[in-house]
Amino acid sequence: MSFSKLSIDTFKLEVQVWAERIGVSPSEIHVREMARKWGSCSTTGRVTFSRDLLEQSEATRTEVIIHELLHLKVPNHGPLFRGLERAYIAGRTSTYGALSTEG
Ligand SMILES: [Zn+2]
Repeated sequence: MSFSKLSIDTFKLEVQVWAERIGVSPSEIHVREMARKWGSCSTTGRVTFSRDLLEQSEATRTEVIIHELLHLKVPNHGPLFRGLERAYIAGRTSTYGALSTEG
């Protein structure tokens, strides 16, 4: 199964929607080539996403977006971070409705 490629603007809009939902305000949102990861965030609130994400499913994009944006709240991968991440990723099914409920 392949997915149609998203425009960078649409992707950034998705990021902004999630930022509002999570309650963070990234100072900048960047999309560029990244060698080994889907995304990163800096201590100054700048979040960067891999260009390859534009070709991934909405489910994958959302997980990466949630992960990076949550780092603006919690800078590490401790229990608090994992708990929030799980909650937001679980909650996304009710937001979009069309995703599978497996796992
Ligand atoms: Zn992380």
